[in-house]
Amino acid sequence: MSKILAIDDKKDNLIAISALLNALIPDCNVITAQSGAEGLEKAKNQFPDTILLDIKMPGLDGYEVCNRLKNDEITKHIPIIMISAIKTESADLVKGLGTGADAFLAKPIDEYVLIAQVKTALRIKKAEDLLREQKDLLEHTVQKRTAELMRTNEQLKHEINNRVNAEKRYRMLVETMNDGLFLMDENCLITFANNRLFEILGYSKDKIIGMSVHNFLDVSNQRIFDEQMEVHKKNNHTVCELTFTRKNGQKIDAILSPSAIIDAEGQFKGSLGVITDISEKKQLEAQLVQSQKMEAIGLLAGGVAHDFNNLLTVIMGNAELALMAVIKNESLRKEIEEIKKAGERAASLTRQLLAFSRKQMIMPEVIDLNKGIQETKKMLQRTIGEDIEILTIVEPELWKVYADSGQIDQIIMNMVINARDAMPQGGKLTIETTNSDLNKNYFCEHGIKETAGHYVMLAVSDTGSGMDKETREHIFDPFFTTKEVGKGTGLGMSTVYGIVKQNNGFVWIYSEPGRGSTFKIYLPKVKGNAEPEEKEQSPVDDSGGSETVLIVEDDYSLRNFAQKILPRYGYNVLVAENGEDALMVRKKHKGQIHLLLTDVVMPRMGGKKLAERLQFFYPRMKVIYMSGYTDNAIVRHGVLEPRLNFLEKPFTPKGLARKVWEVLKNEKLGCSGF
Ligand code: ADP
Ligand code: MG
Repeated sequence: MSKILAIDDKKDNLIAISALLNALIPDCNVITAQSGAEGLEKAKNQFPDTILLDIKMPGLDGYEVCNRLKNDEITKHIPIIMISAIKTESADLVKGLGTGADAFLAKPIDEYVLIAQVKTALRIKKAEDLLREQKDLLEHTVQKRTAELMRTNEQLKHEINNRVNAEKRYRMLVETMNDGLFLMDENCLITFANNRLFEILGYSKDKIIGMSVHNFLDVSNQRIFDEQMEVHKKNNHTVCELTFTRKNGQKIDAILSPSAIIDAEGQFKGSLGVITDISEKKQLEAQLVQSQKMEAIGLLAGGVAHDFNNLLTVIMGNAELALMAVIKNESLRKEIEEIKKAGERAASLTRQLLAFSRKQMIMPEVIDLNKGIQETKKMLQRTIGEDIEILTIVEPELWKVYADSGQIDQIIMNMVINARDAMPQGGKLTIETTNSDLNKNYFCEHGIKETAGHYVMLAVSDTGSGMDKETREHIFDPFFTTKEVGKGTGLGMSTVYGIVKQNNGFVWIYSEPGRGSTFKIYLPKVKGNAEPEEKEQSPVDDSGGSETVLIVEDDYSLRNFAQKILPRYGYNVLVAENGEDALMVRKKHKGQIHLLLTDVVMPRMGGKKLAERLQFFYPRMKVIYMSGYTDNAIVRHGVLEPRLNFLEKPFTPKGLARKVWEVLKNEKLGCSGF
């Protein structure tokens, strides 16, 4: 149905137009308005399809109404046919069309023209409505689709971001793992590997891809690996321990845990492998076992050596006393000399035991290893015989070390004797010293965990038989020897180890069977510019003295021994068997006590404490400590303050007399020495 609004101030006109339209336009509904204002009102509320508008009306005239209708969003699409007065000037026509009217009819109106105009207007309106509707629909659809697209776009962006992140995240996880991760195909060829695997195996990325896992295993490990691969195909997952061989030949202990990759059809397609490097852990374990073993044997050896020392002092001392007495009997004298020599050898063995058990009394000082080597070189040549050529290559500006020179001699000696034994047919022996600045890399490369820093290196190399792996692994074990019974004690290298450890150093060995050996000893450089202390050798003077010496020693035979010797040198001797006893002796004694010769560890009151007590009464009294090893606080650290006078057990009568003389002479000269 079409709705037509007729606006005219004359009711007759409206009736006539209504009748005409109703008669000639089928299916039409005519509404009327008798003024401009009413017309505007109805046009807005009733949505007519066409408006017939009289120009000449009181109040709002036709032009004004047309103008307003065409400027209103709601009504601007309605076609307007303007109807003019009887006499229409062309100016009216222009004005009417200017306000936006769609057609213009002048009175008297031709009925058919009017109907034709109305029909055309209705058709245009209908077509325009349809177009607008479609346009709206299109716009709506476009808007909807655009919104949808934008949403999808956002989702995609989000999705891509997530994927990129996940990819980032996975790569990070794989590449920062501490384990080697790899994929291998059904023939155990590597198809993917993370950086850690390249590090562990020592190959570059481009080399490793496509290589077989077998390439990194020796024959026996290949067998273990193959067995595990069979097992993991059935169980999906296994774990085994393998020794991998790096590109540079170095061995690496590792745990391999492969997981089978099975496709949808249940076919085996390869494996995902994880390799964990456990070399360091294994090394630490081995070190722990080694040090526990050393500790246990050290305790045993130390305990035996202590008692042994005292016995030796008595044996050797008495042998010497006997020698003094039998000057005339030549054959008896020889026999006693043999006893003395055997005693001396036994004493040096005891020293080794004590050094090894780390309880030997040591007197470290700042020393130059080169000096020690130079001094012992002549003696070494005699020890090793003519067939072996000794070469010494020393660093001229060698750093100093803080060590006991006796121990250093012992280390060199033990290594030189081993070198000699390894070269029965002769050969070359090289002793070298260098300064070495060991950075972290050095240690990692060689698998040792030591404090990085400045070390003095002492190397002893020979061109002898060399060692197999078994020997190299056990060389530091106490009593480990490959020499025939009576030739080797198996204590040489364990002593070296003990001494070096005691001095915060470490030993490194290079050796192959048939290719000689090199032993490298690293001792920490002395901090600061400390110069070696010049040791003043006092001349041997057997004339003795007449001072009073108080001997305090809990071991009867030792005490008795010292008590016998000193009077022979003119000294006045007092004895006590422990600290308290010594204080009693002092109380009864009327004169001075010039020297205290005391054991370090004694029940109840130790030597140090006793010395302090006595020095209260005799401020100028000198003290000599004698000991093999003790558990005393100073000694537990293996160090006796170098400024203290010390006499090592076992000692000889001459050794004792000389020490006593030396210490007392200093007193006479007025230098305290303390
Ligand atoms: P010993 O010399 O009494 O056997 P060591 O502790 O000094 O005891 O040495 C232990 C073992 O280490 C020796 O028996 C020997 O097998 C081996 N060894 C030590 N030094 C060398 C060397 N320079 N060349 C070859 N083998 C050596
Ligand atoms: Mg030896």
